Amino acid sequence: MRIYNTKTRRKEEFKPIHEGKVGIYVCGPTVYDFIHIGNARPMIVFDTLRRYFEHKGYEVKYVTNFTDVDDKIIKRSIEEGIPASEVSEKYIAECKKDMEALNVRPASVHPQATQEIPEMIDMVKTLIDKGHAYEKNGTVYFKVRSFEPYGKLSHKKIDDLESGHRAEAHALKVTGEDEKEDALDFVLWKPKKEGEPFWVSPWGDGRPGWHLECSCMSKKYVGETLDIHAGGEDLIFPHHENEIAQSEAANGVEFANYWMHNAFLRINGDKMSKSLGNFFTVRDICEQYDPQVIRFFMLSAQYRTPLNFSKELVEDASRGLERILNGAEKLKEIADKKNGRFTSDEEQKILEEEMPKFIERFDAAMDDDLNTADAISVLFELVRFTNANTDEKSSSNYADCLYKILFELSDKVLGIKLERKEVVMDEDETAKIEAMIAERTAAKKNKDFAKADEIRNKLSEMGIIIEDTREGVKWKKA
Ligand code: AMP
Ligand code: ZN
Repeated sequence: MRIYNTKTRRKEEFKPIHEGKVGIYVCGPTVYDFIHIGNARPMIVFDTLRRYFEHKGYEVKYVTNFTDVDDKIIKRSIEEGIPASEVSEKYIAECKKDMEALNVRPASVHPQATQEIPEMIDMVKTLIDKGHAYEKNGTVYFKVRSFEPYGKLSHKKIDDLESGHRAEAHALKVTGEDEKEDALDFVLWKPKKEGEPFWVSPWGDGRPGWHLECSCMSKKYVGETLDIHAGGEDLIFPHHENEIAQSEAANGVEFANYWMHNAFLRINGDKMSKSLGNFFTVRDICEQYDPQVIRFFMLSAQYRTPLNFSKELVEDASRGLERILNGAEKLKEIADKKNGRFTSDEEQKILEEEMPKFIERFDAAMDDDLNTADAISVLFELVRFTNANTDEKSSSNYADCLYKILFELSDKVLGIKLERKEVVMDEDETAKIEAMIAERTAAKKNKDFAKADEIRNKLSEMGIIIEDTREGVKWKKA
């Protein structure tokens, strides 16, 4: 497999550290709110990378973290008057639900920053001992100039960075807020502020810097050298550059052999992001579309190509997915009939000669830096071929073999399930559910909680999930 390595800016043949094994670390979300569909791009893309390695027979260690201590989480906890840990636990649970809906498999490990503080303190100590870090009034900084290769991932030169930082540093020095020895230095440990979560450390009560988390968690759960480190392209600088500096300065070995970065999901040409306010949450979008359509849409572009999110493109994806599902359904029907016919010579020839060609072309697309766009084109051709080469006279065994090939490539590797999710609700049923929900709301208003719970249980038995939100009660069929 060839992978575009951000570090060398070339596609390189992938060589694992240990034969037959691959260790991957992907930077995960900061959990202060529901994730948006931009955040879902790396999740889907790198979940597909993991599945593809497994399809090729590798044993994969796949680790992705949750950043559960951060300014944004603290801000949210103050706004809502609840502990920061409650905010993060809530959104970790919500994120996991979204991942499941998108058929993103749970990672081998999902470490959380707050659970790994002793390792982080150890790494800071090591960096201070080795002369790569220093403490000033409870803050520990990484000394960027002490790490000679700084900039090797983002291809930035220290001196160019220096001039960019000078004005900013001057402003901070004037207000006396910053005691860094050098404007380039970044924080490893910061002292607590009143009301913030903190941990005890040799430099006083405080919390770790964001970059440090990933250096420690990747080392603990994958190893000192990762086969692949991945994330969105906005993380190249400074986050990944700083991770390299910390890890290599502390461990003395290469941090990651291959760096993969996905391009942005855009909306009207801009990066979809919380700060720009131009985002859709995965939760909202999955109410409008089958989550499978969103996964299919994401994989319809190669991961390094910017992808624009629009209703038209999602609907195109929906139609494309429909073609694949129809083809799969046809094969399944013939296979399930178990008609006992012998596989004809012609069918056997297709299985032995034509099918391997499709698999080879699919693998060749995926081998070329995970080109899921081309791999999906191969799937379309495969479905066109099976449609043209099966009918009611085909043997069930033959149709079953074709189905299994489609299943392996679509369901197993791309994570696109072949079953259609059908939720058919007639008007009467909908009206009945809504009447029950209204009755429950009225019961709650009258403080008749026993009745409210009874109605909720009845709905649950009917397979209806309800959720009390600020906008009122939302419901869906499980
Ligand atoms: P964050 O919670 O902002 O740290 O983001 C979590 C992950 O989502 C990171 O790998 C980001 O690079 C990625 N990400 C954020 N916004 C987008 C976007 N619009 N398109 C693709 N990836 C994104
Ligand atoms: Zn990270």
